[in-house]
Amino acid sequence: MKVGIIGAGQVGSATAFALILRGVAREVVLIDSNEKKAEAEALDISHATTFAYASKVRAGSYHDLDNADVVIITAGANQRPGETRIDLMERNAAIFKSIVRQIVENAPNAIILVASNPVDILTEYTLKLSGLPKNRVFGSGTILDTSRFRTLLGEHLGISSKSIHANVLGEHGDSEVLIWSNGDAGTLPIATLGVDLNRPITPEVKARIDDNVRNAAYKIIDGKGATFYGIAGGLTRICQAIATNENAILTVSSFHEDVEGIKNICLSLPTIINKNGIEKVIYPRLSDEEHALLRASAQKLKDYVQMP
Ligand code: NAD
Repeated sequence: MKVGIIGAGQVGSATAFALILRGVAREVVLIDSNEKKAEAEALDISHATTFAYASKVRAGSYHDLDNADVVIITAGANQRPGETRIDLMERNAAIFKSIVRQIVENAPNAIILVASNPVDILTEYTLKLSGLPKNRVFGSGTILDTSRFRTLLGEHLGISSKSIHANVLGEHGDSEVLIWSNGDAGTLPIATLGVDLNRPITPEVKARIDDNVRNAAYKIIDGKGATFYGIAGGLTRICQAIATNENAILTVSSFHEDVEGIKNICLSLPTIINKNGIEKVIYPRLSDEEHALLRASAQKLKDYVQMP
């Protein structure tokens, strides 16, 4: 698979590195307004290809996106300490106008995968700017939050996070919704498994996990200025599902006509991903409280999008 990455910053270069090391991409083109940075990152990553799979990484221009299967947008400002993802909107929307136009001109058949924040709003914006069908424009959404949730549940239960099916839905941001009512592992609901393993999921455990999922980015940014390895893993996982036509169910952000009564909004729901991009969205089974929280998350995004 050929992948273009717009933005060779921390997220873009970590993603290129992960794509190469995992053998998901055979060719990666890094594009950045700072050409020197893109060239340096591509050169550095290319020196790892000897230890990975036969693949090519290079810096390029938009013309080099020809025949790209996927173009990932990671360009733009990232959160400063204390800033929310939504605070980034104005700065990032301005640069998306020119980026999306050039992607569509040079790679008209590519799937566009948005990672820049606020990812849900920028996904909707990219869909509008690109004019592409909605199966071919989506965002990384809560794939990272879902991974954080599974990791913490796995640590608490003492089992592999890969054996846990539990999801975070809604906004990739402060209003995201951890779905406690429907997680399972080894055929058992996670709450039942917790009791069986003598590691019950008490209200205190839930509150601690919720805080660590919801506020993970703030904590990481406070410590090292940015988050990038987790999202690089998530973006690589999405590309793998596309490259192998996998029909994997992942929580990504896409356009929905109706979420809990809120119309025409991008946010994350469980989604089947294959070579076409989005094959189908699976509407989740939720508790009454989770329905209300998902509605509030959708409303928050809608209010923002409708702001003058
Ligand atoms: P960064 O500052 O390290 O990199 C951004 C890069 O974009 C820079 O190299 C910059 O030169 C480049 N750039 C700016 N304008 C451009 C343009 N018009 N064309 C091409 N390149 C341009 O930032 P980062 O840490 O890599 O974060 C990038 C984005 O990813 C941020 O919006 C951040 O919030 C987001 N992010 C998303 C997730 C997620 O889960 N979706 C996780 C982490 C970070």
